[in-house]
Amino acid sequence: AAEEGFDVEDVEGAIEAAGHGPLPVLAVVGRPNVGKSTLVNRIIGRREAVVEDKPGVTRDRVTYEAEWAGRRFKVVDTGGWEQDVLGIDASVAAQAEYAIDAADAVVFVVDAKVGATDTDEAVVRLLRKAGKPVVLCANKVDGPSGEADASYLWNLGLGEPHPVSALHGRGTGDMLDAVLEALPEAPEQTFTAAVGGPRRIALIGRPNVGKSSLLNKVAGEERVVVNELAGTTRDPVDELIELGGVTWKFIDTAGIRKRVHLQQGADYYASLRTAAAVEKAEVAVILLDASESISVQDQRIVTMAVEAGRAVVLAFNKWDTLDEERRYYLEREIETELGQVAWAPRVNVSARTGRHMEKLVPAIETALAGWETRVPTGRLNAFLGELVAAHPHPIRGGKQPRILFGTQAGTKPPRFVLFASGFIEAGYRRFVERRLREEFGFEGTPLHISVRVRE
Ligand code: GDP
Ligand code: GDP
Repeated sequence: AAEEGFDVEDVEGAIEAAGHGPLPVLAVVGRPNVGKSTLVNRIIGRREAVVEDKPGVTRDRVTYEAEWAGRRFKVVDTGGWEQDVLGIDASVAAQAEYAIDAADAVVFVVDAKVGATDTDEAVVRLLRKAGKPVVLCANKVDGPSGEADASYLWNLGLGEPHPVSALHGRGTGDMLDAVLEALPEAPEQTFTAAVGGPRRIALIGRPNVGKSSLLNKVAGEERVVVNELAGTTRDPVDELIELGGVTWKFIDTAGIRKRVHLQQGADYYASLRTAAAVEKAEVAVILLDASESISVQDQRIVTMAVEAGRAVVLAFNKWDTLDEERRYYLEREIETELGQVAWAPRVNVSARTGRHMEKLVPAIETALAGWETRVPTGRLNAFLGELVAAHPHPIRGGKQPRILFGTQAGTKPPRFVLFASGFIEAGYRRFVERRLREEFGFEGTPLHISVRVRE
């Protein structure tokens, strides 16, 4: 490395930063209007309008990446969803529960000016039950005079209340220090599964694509009855299902089977649930309704899985209903609308007739194999050397930026760091990614590629 103009520490630092693996997840929960979204904006360092004054505004994005004191983590925002037919307590509890379930640590936000309400107490009970580390945020302490309000919250029994003004930033640094102490370096659930236990599948897709039908088909009718009972509790229930001689863990099958009929906030509720399932899973099986046009909502779900860095399988359901014309248009739509996952294995199934169900497991295995692929540094550099020689970067301003060497810093998904002599253009980066895929497979997995430029 040294002779290429990078010093060893730079290189090691870059590899460590890129190879972090899955990030720990922080959930921000609390009643409506306590300032959750404002706080999330603070944490992710963005002031753009995630906060809206309209109650019940639905938002599709619920997870964000954040960094504090050099550590990166994900934040799940449960704000932006007002109330539904379950009533306020039940809805706050339900959404908090999904978020807590997916999280490694929780920030519980209370409005210090209002004090603890019954709804807050209900969330406290959930937090106790979940046993995850909690940081208590006493929000809306905009000045020193509010500190006394915050100290009342010791009564909640969750330890020290951190007085914060999410709006003005006061106290947020100290609170984030406490968050870092509460968060594990690496997420528990993802790592325990990496070591052993059944592989985890999130079966996701917009309403009515056939998720519960597919699940019933693969699990067999008998199991369904049992699980409908389990689903009557509000606990998200994962289910072990044997497929192709292997036991898999399907995440949040209760959520798939239980038809929750919500009006207001239903979309948000669904995306929170989907995000939570994706966080807990290794591979996302994204179900689409082949009989209908690929929608923006389908694409959002795809983006969610890709951004979470999960292995992806695309399953086109209701194949039994397709005529030749629809098949023709579907192929065109897939090309134009699903280009971001052109690398994902695809199966065309029918939950109704059982068509091609046997192809599901091989596709999942392929995607997981791609997700875990590690390319030895020697092979990678031989490949990069040939690539750069055969297809040099275009000359810019009389100079020719060159990829000098690279390494794979991590897997699940594969993460690469490339070291270059100058700025590598986006088009060339995409070209490198395409060639990497051609050379090494990586079917069913997103790739993270970062480029370091020599000073
Ligand atoms: P959420 O429903 O919990 O996500 O709450 P929001 O983040 O949407 O905030 C609800 C309202 O409280 C908004 O009008 C915010 O501007 C306001 N708010 C949030 N944080 C603070 C704060 O620290 N101080 C004050 N004074 N107002 C705040
Ligand atoms: P979910 O909301 O994604 O769980 O979707 P459901 O499993 O409840 O299915 C929605 C509707 O699509 C139901 O009426 C199912 O009977 C129907 N459906 C599901 N899979 C298929 C399929 O493969 N073929 C056909 N023709 N209908 C299906």
